[in-house]
Amino acid sequence: MKLLFKEKSIRQGNVTEFIFEPIQSVTWKAGQYTHFTLPHQADDRGDERWFTISSAPSEREIHITTRINTERSSTFKQELMKLQPGDAIEADEPSGDFILSDTDRHYIFIIGGIGITPIRSILKQLDVEGKGITAKLLYANRDETSIAYKDELEELSQRYPNFTIINFIAENRIDNTAIIDAASDLSNPLYYVSGPEPMVEQFETTLTDMGVDKDNIKFDYFPGYEKI
Ligand SMILES: Cc1cc2nc3c(=O)[nH]c(=O)nc-3n(C[C@H](O)[C@H](O)[C@H](O)COP(=O)(O)OP(=O)(O)OC[C@H]3O[C@@H](n4cnc5c(N)ncnc54)[C@H](O)[C@@H]3O)c2cc1C
Repeated sequence: MKLLFKEKSIRQGNVTEFIFEPIQSVTWKAGQYTHFTLPHQADDRGDERWFTISSAPSEREIHITTRINTERSSTFKQELMKLQPGDAIEADEPSGDFILSDTDRHYIFIIGGIGITPIRSILKQLDVEGKGITAKLLYANRDETSIAYKDELEELSQRYPNFTIINFIAENRIDNTAIIDAASDLSNPLYYVSGPEPMVEQFETTLTDMGVDKDNIKFDYFPGYEKI
C-alpha cells in the first residue's frame, strides 16, 4: 500500500512521530505493525524497517513513532526526516498478534522506552470504544525527559482509576518484586512485554522463571535498540 507523508512532530525529547495518510482505506488492529520501504543509498542496515502503528484504528491515519538519534542516525531515519508533505512511501499491510485478546481481562504491560508504541495504540482504542482499562503499566526509561506519551498516558490514568502507571527511571529497574506487586492487585493478568530486544528477552526468562504460564504472555521485540 502507498502512504502519503503528512507531517511530523516531536512527542518528547528525541521521540518523533510521523503521520501518514493512506491513499486507499487500510484497516489494522491496535498493537499491529507494518513494514516500510524507503529506497535510498542506504547504510549497511538497508532501506526497509518495521514500525508499530502508534495510532489507534479510530484515528484512521497511520502514525509511527521513533527515536531519532541525530548524531548516529541510520540513513533510513535520515531519509524519514527529509520527507516532505505529499511524499509517498511504500508499506505492507499491517500485521502482528501483539493485540488484546480479550478486553475484559486484566493486563500488566512491561515496557521499555519506545516499546510503548503498541500500548499507546491499544489504550487509545480502548478509550475511544468506551471500554474500561484495567491494567498496570510498568514503564522503564533512561531518564524523565525520554518518557514518550507521558502526558497522554497520565491523562488516561487520571480518568481510569484501574489504569496505573509505575515509572522506572535509569537504575531503578523493573524487577520481580515490581511484577509481583502489580500482579497481586489484578486477577489472573495477561502480560504484554515490549521494548528493546535484549530487554524483552530478559523478561521472557524472568516471567517463565516466576511460573507465569506462556499462554498468558505476549512479546514485541524492537531490534536496533540497546537495553535500557
Ligand atoms: C515488529 C517491530 C516493530 C517495531 N516498532 C518500532 C517502533 O514503533 N518504533 C521504533 O522506533 N522502532 C521500532 N522497531 C525497531 C525498528 O525497526 C528499528 O530497528 C529501530 O528503530 C532502529 O532503527 P535504525 O536501525 O534505523 O537505527 P537508529 O535508530 O538510527 O540507530 C539506533 C542505534 O543503532 C546504533 N548504530 C548506529 N550505527 C549502527 C550500525 N552501522 N550498525 C549497528 N548499529 C548501529 C547506534 O547506537 C544508534 O543509536 C520495530 C521493530 C519490529 C521488528
